[in-house]
Amino acid sequence: MDKQNDQSRMDRIVSLAKRRGFIFQSSEIYGGLNGFWDYGPLGVALKRNVKDAWWRDMVSGHDELATLAGAPAPYEMTGLDCTIIMHPQGWKCSGHFDLFHDWMIDCRESKRRYRYDHLHGRWAAHRGKKVFVTTEASGDEAVPETVARAQKFFGLRAKQVDEIEWGGGLESLEQAVAAGSATLADTLGPDAAAPGSLTEPREFNLMFETRIGALAGDDDDRAFLRPETAQGIFVNFKNVLDTSRVRVPFGIAQVGKSFRNEITPRNFTFRSREFEQMEIEFFCRPAESADWYRYWRDRRWKWYLGLGLTEGRLQLREHHADELSHYSVGTADIEYAFPFLAEGEFGELEGIAHRGDFDLRSHMEGKLVRKDGELVVETGPDGKPRHRGSGKDLSYFDDVTRERYVPHVIEPSAGADRGTLAFLCDAYHEDEVPDEDGKPRSRTVMKFHPRLAPVKAAILPLVKKDGMPEVAIDLYRALKPHMACQYDEKGSVGRRYARQDEAGTPWCLTIDGQTLTDKTVTLRDRDSLAQTRVPIAEVVAMLRDRLS
Ligand code: ATP
Repeated sequence: MDKQNDQSRMDRIVSLAKRRGFIFQSSEIYGGLNGFWDYGPLGVALKRNVKDAWWRDMVSGHDELATLAGAPAPYEMTGLDCTIIMHPQGWKCSGHFDLFHDWMIDCRESKRRYRYDHLHGRWAAHRGKKVFVTTEASGDEAVPETVARAQKFFGLRAKQVDEIEWGGGLESLEQAVAAGSATLADTLGPDAAAPGSLTEPREFNLMFETRIGALAGDDDDRAFLRPETAQGIFVNFKNVLDTSRVRVPFGIAQVGKSFRNEITPRNFTFRSREFEQMEIEFFCRPAESADWYRYWRDRRWKWYLGLGLTEGRLQLREHHADELSHYSVGTADIEYAFPFLAEGEFGELEGIAHRGDFDLRSHMEGKLVRKDGELVVETGPDGKPRHRGSGKDLSYFDDVTRERYVPHVIEPSAGADRGTLAFLCDAYHEDEVPDEDGKPRSRTVMKFHPRLAPVKAAILPLVKKDGMPEVAIDLYRALKPHMACQYDEKGSVGRRYARQDEAGTPWCLTIDGQTLTDKTVTLRDRDSLAQTRVPIAEVVAMLRDRLS
């Protein structure tokens, strides 16, 4: 893998994203809001193209009559658009109300809040004084960070650093406290000057709460912003079955906003508090579910490759048995080596989970827990279900085999913002191109796949006279109904190419003196920089062909 992981590279990507209008901080004029991001003119087009490509490839363009490569059988795909606020009982049955939390820990000194499972530390000792030094840093940065912090804590000069005695390597603070090998009283928080400033860990529900109605007040009005789009699909399973002609196996897709009150939003849009998901719930016969799981895992992997993500920066990671959720038979993550991560680390783009019949049964029977290897309804002290289900029958009757069963579910769950961020990072390149005088000029170029590029073509009259703008405007108007394109006559042609390279426009069409005599234009390719002459009359068909 090429060495492209470093913070300065990420800083350049973030700065380009802002300068060129891909992504802005939300409410920036008021100082910004942590964990919330806005998409600018180029960004909105890029993200829309990601979502459109997903919807087209998975749903609207799906051929339900064919058996696709790797699929056990032909299948149907359909879609839904559900509300962000759903009946609160749904979140109780799905388990989010009880389980969707993280442990967090506050620092009384720095007033910062950390995710407990994100802190790592190790014992440092100097002249009889001992402290458990923690850091939030990960990867290669973690150990040097503990050294620097210990040096400062003990008041040592750089050449005295070797005097520090280290009690072993880095370990998770959570595990060290649980094992009794460290206490919070001895722990130096990641941003604290003295030990003992960290509070006991507390549970923190990630669901945003709201109230319904004007006179909201009592507990019955409490509602939540959805932390995932999936549950809207499960609660509509019967509606879709009853109103459309779909038969198992089939999938329901949804794209929409989700909200999680993340404790430590970070890494640009990677961990946001408001984000969009692209989820499929695929319903199949239990006996065939393992084959469908493999199909979807491989299909989704290939989707990212097909849209140009560098294979060496992608990883398909099957979860170990001890990592699986209590209901899951198998889960794989598709991960990307984001430049803000240390070399060798990957961040999740999408999870593909075999969820068995957990979700449909939960919404029928009530919140489920695993007991002696079986999923059973969790009961309260009174022996009644802790969270009562809908009581509606969500089983499926197969009128060919005359069987009735609760379908198993395969869930490919992707993040539209994380996908967009991966495409943005992967597209970012710096190289050198000859300028108009043949001298090398450094350029920043976004090498988006043409399907994702915010602008597909730029139409540039070489000069603003001699009838060139008129020809260019005609070409622009001919192309515009077919694809996003821009007309630009401002500045030297080199400057205009540079602007389009930064926006990631794959093709530039230049109208010059020769155009006026032979009706051809120069087609410049963003990546190869090859320039070819193409008859004006063929441009629309040619670019449409390349896009499809
Ligand atoms: P993580 O472990 O990174 O928090 P997760 O395993 O909780 O993610 P899922 O619940 O499987 O994520 O959600 C499916 C997808 O939704 C993720 O693969 C990711 O692309 C996206 N996603 C989840 N949380 C966030 C977030 N806070 N910001 C942006 N995208 C997110």
